[in-house]
Amino acid sequence: MASEKEAALAAATPSDDSPTIFDKIISKEIPSNVVFEDDKVLAFRDITPQGPVHILLIPKVRDGLTGLSKAEEKHIDILGRLLYTAKLVAKQEGLAEGFRIVINDGPQGCQSVYHIHVHLIGGRQMNWPPG
Ligand code: 5GP
Repeated sequence: MASEKEAALAAATPSDDSPTIFDKIISKEIPSNVVFEDDKVLAFRDITPQGPVHILLIPKVRDGLTGLSKAEEKHIDILGRLLYTAKLVAKQEGLAEGFRIVINDGPQGCQSVYHIHVHLIGGRQMNWPPG
């Protein structure tokens, strides 16, 4: 399997607005382990977890938000909702000692799926600086 870095470099560019694997996860065409869902946000376990807890939070409607670098004023509400939901899910997952939030953006940021997503990673001691 390609490394995360290789996948990021091979992925569509941020300007590419084509559908992603996350559309099929939202439509339930591809199964995922959902931990939270409301009308705006879907949160599910990452298929390649980087910790005991690794959850992806995504907007159900991408609305041009392929990555954070594409954010416009109209996205402020959903961006806030993604982070607030991450906090709720962290509590639900019992991450009382802390957790890591990551948003990868673009090839150098190691983004591989161009539908904005927040990584919630926890359950182990994190290191700094990140790789
Ligand atoms: P990125 O590298 O773009 O920041 O993160 C994309 C994430 O999506 C990766 O951590 C990868 O493991 C995850 N991912 C890719 N395809 C699937 C899938 O089909 N199901 C799930 N649950 N996660 C996926």
